Amino acid sequence: MTGPGSPARVLVLGGTTEGRNLASACAATPELEVISSLAGRTTTPLLPAGKVRIGGFGGVDGLTAYLRDRRIAAVVDATHPFAATMTAHAVAASARAGVPLLVLRRPGWTVRPGDRWHRVPDLAAAAALLPRLGERVFLTTGRQSIAAFAAVDACWFLSRSVEPPGAPLPERLEVLLGRGPFTLDGERELLARHRIDVLVTKDSGGSTAKLDAARERGLPVVLVDRPPLPPAAESTAGGTAVAPCPATAATVADALAWLRRGSAAACTPG
Ligand code: NAP
Repeated sequence: MTGPGSPARVLVLGGTTEGRNLASACAATPELEVISSLAGRTTTPLLPAGKVRIGGFGGVDGLTAYLRDRRIAAVVDATHPFAATMTAHAVAASARAGVPLLVLRRPGWTVRPGDRWHRVPDLAAAAALLPRLGERVFLTTGRQSIAAFAAVDACWFLSRSVEPPGAPLPERLEVLLGRGPFTLDGERELLARHRIDVLVTKDSGGSTAKLDAARERGLPVVLVDRPPLPPAAESTAGGTAVAPCPATAATVADALAWLRRGSAAACTPG
């Protein structure tokens, strides 16, 4: 806590819509003071309400020191479900510093009648599977993931990302810059215009527009599974009652409720 009677200072690890929405909710809650943290991957980030810091912390040691120095009362890891390193660091650092942690993750997608999904464990498995499913690929896994498809010569790729990707890149590639949310009509038009015959996506959850458009056209979808949440870290902060597992929430409302009731009460094994 920041001191008796003063608002509890909350660190939101962001880079997602949920992170921004939680920052807005915290900023509108008098008993909370919010600092959002962004990795600094995009040149024009959408800035959350409240205070914002940008850039890495310098690993677990850096984040632990930050939590102590800034007297952070609670951490919410609202990073993307595939930002596995940041989540692992949040688990380790919050335990070391004796600060309660909540992992906010929107639910993954669930299959619907008519879907032709191929679930794969990682990007390498997606790349290996693609040539058997189609030639013209719509790749929506983000610019940092394109390298995994660089050697797939049998396919032509349309890749969509917020920022331009860097090498290595597939030989036959068209890059489309864009930031969601995307509409169903827009996705329909894109799939038709580029004669797409297979979609690749991470199981990010959220808007289903591209999945709905693919289902309508009867297209196969390669869905990359989420990395698992890291194992719980035991607190090394002497005498501090910290839950030995990261609590999880699926919605911004639940995360805000967790913060408002003093953070450490809920603990569901992640
Ligand atoms: P990552 O691989 O899990 O993290 C790599 C390093 O980036 C971390 O060790 C940390 O550096 C720094 N970092 C990541 N998120 C940070 C944050 N919110 N604030 C400060 N530092 C952060 O992360 P990533 O997959 O590259 O994702 C980076 C950011 O993009 C995240 O904020 C995430 O929410 C967002 N994002 C990711 C994806 C995706 O598919 N991975 C999709 C959409 C948005 P230090 O070790 O120096 O602290």
